Amino acid sequence: GAGMQDDALERPRVSFKDVGGLEELKENIKMNIIYPFQNPSLFKTFGKKVGGGILLYGPPGCGKTFLARATAGECNARFINIAIDDILDMYIGNSEKNLHAVFELARKHTPAIIFIDELDALGGSRQQMRYQNNRMLTNQLLSELDGVESDNSEILVLGATNSPWFVDSSLRRPGRFDRVLFVPPPDLQARVEILQLHLKDKPLEALDYVKLAKGMEKFSGADIKAVCDAAADIAITNAMKTGKVRPLSMDDMLSALKKVRPSTLEW
Ligand code: ATP
Repeated sequence: GAGMQDDALERPRVSFKDVGGLEELKENIKMNIIYPFQNPSLFKTFGKKVGGGILLYGPPGCGKTFLARATAGECNARFINIAIDDILDMYIGNSEKNLHAVFELARKHTPAIIFIDELDALGGSRQQMRYQNNRMLTNQLLSELDGVESDNSEILVLGATNSPWFVDSSLRRPGRFDRVLFVPPPDLQARVEILQLHLKDKPLEALDYVKLAKGMEKFSGADIKAVCDAAADIAITNAMKTGKVRPLSMDDMLSALKKVRPSTLEW
């Protein structure tokens, strides 16, 4: 591990308005995470607990990382995005040091949100070979989360996984990742919103968003973005061939749609 550089610190410009759909989740995160984070004494006055982490789970590409980044944008916090596989190091003790460095970096630049992806990679069930290593890393994460020797009052930790059943149960106790929220594949309305968000800065003809979204059953947000990107490629290729730029059309979108396979079929 190269150690944690300051360039791991993001200052996200995205906020909840950039995330299509997921309205209930946004409300939940506001009420349970952002507001207590911003007004701890008010929440404590009314006997509400402050702190603890959230575990986001759901199919790939449906916005877990994006939502976490937007949460940081909403509360003007720094954002550190790490995956367990990036933290793992073959040398004994180094994985724990890497993880500690991440938390120290966050504590130095508060308010901060640490987003830990692939939390299930710590479970041991996934990689028997690395179990020993993982147990030590899990223990390190537990002590970082509990803030035994450090002040965590201005950092928030969000975790994510595609397989919550593999996440170590010790990580799910109170004060740790004690709330689990499902980030679902986008429904029709959400697909319309995601389409509009990803097309908003492109030259466009009038598009039938509902028709497009209906053709995107089981598409993740990332799949929808891929369709928009593919449609832009078609328009660009066309402009280079003809020497004339014309706005993105329904036909471009429909041809692009055929090139992308839905990735949430089994959800
Ligand atoms: P993974 O499990 O693979 O890490 P994820 O759930 O974290 O996936 P993201 O990385 O957040 O998925 O999503 C990938 C990209 O798809 C985002 O950067 C964004 O461009 C687009 N996207 C996904 N969901 C949404 C959404 N609800 N609104 C707008 N864009 C979205």
